[in-house]
Amino acid sequence: MVVQPIKEITSYNEWNQMRDNVRRVVLSLEVCWNCQRVSQCQKQVLGGTVMVWFCKECSIEREKSMPAPLRRRVHPPAGKIEL
Ligand SMILES: [Zn+2]
Repeated sequence: MVVQPIKEITSYNEWNQMRDNVRRVVLSLEVCWNCQRVSQCQKQVLGGTVMVWFCKECSIEREKSMPAPLRRRVHPPAGKIEL
């Protein structure tokens, strides 16, 4: 039975962890639908139905261009239709 020094096991685990992290980042890379750059994109939902991937910058730009009250429509339509 071969007993490995603890130090080596730790570094192996660390290396493994690092590799997993890299893999996760690579898997999360997407082409931004707005600027066509490859980066860690965030999923955005347009109009409640269309899903697109935007990079961080485009997400921020989109947030900025959107007036706050329009982001979430909580209030029902004002005019009630009586039958
Ligand atoms: Zn972008």
